[in-house]
Amino acid sequence: MQSVTLLAVSKTFAPQAVRAAFAAGERRFGENYVQEGVAKIAALADLRSQIEWHLIGPVQSNKTRVVAEQFDWVHTVDRLRIAQRLSEHRPAHLPPLQLCLQVNISGEASKSGLLPAEVGAVAHAVAALPRLRLRGLMAIPDPRDEFDAQRAPHRRLRDLLERLRSEGLALDTLSIGMSADLEAAILEGATIVRVGSAIFGERLRLKQAMPSSS
Ligand SMILES: *Cc1c(COP(=O)(O)O)cnc(C)c1O
Repeated sequence: MQSVTLLAVSKTFAPQAVRAAFAAGERRFGENYVQEGVAKIAALADLRSQIEWHLIGPVQSNKTRVVAEQFDWVHTVDRLRIAQRLSEHRPAHLPPLQLCLQVNISGEASKSGLLPAEVGAVAHAVAALPRLRLRGLMAIPDPRDEFDAQRAPHRRLRDLLERLRSEGLALDTLSIGMSADLEAAILEGATIVRVGSAIFGERLRLKQAMPSSS
């Protein structure tokens, strides 16, 4: 079985909650909003060298500089132009920014993400950009209660990753699975699961916290 990395999604939770999770051994944290994430990174500056910060929410083009300067990973690249800007802005003294392409794998209501048919061309172009390292694919399928229905989009994403690998791209990451569909995602090959509420508890103002869910 593949090894699965837990990404603790700390959006809407205070830096103190991240500190507590850090004390319990967690080292990777995911944030959805650039501003909130940057504020938390600053509040936890003393831990910066020990924490990997992942952006898992939308990247607007006017935020690419701060994202490239502050984060270690970005899961949500859905346009070549955004990757080009991240590449231009990634400081030379930092290691390459680790990227996933977000794919709209189940016709997500939010409509964010590349269509499956677009992914190949974008992936090859992104893989050629300096100061970035393309690691794989990410998706946020529409929520389903049924186990098999949860597995189907994850399987399609894995098939897409396999195809890119067969075309010569050295990809190793499938960022799928949240608190509600974690087991299905792991069965279908998830290498990063993004878990928020199952670690930190219920979020207040869930709607604002996660505009991609309808
Ligand atoms: C909020 C969020 C998560 C975590 O969701 P939970 O249901 O709390 O586990 C994972 N991925 C993304 C993109 C999110 O926005």
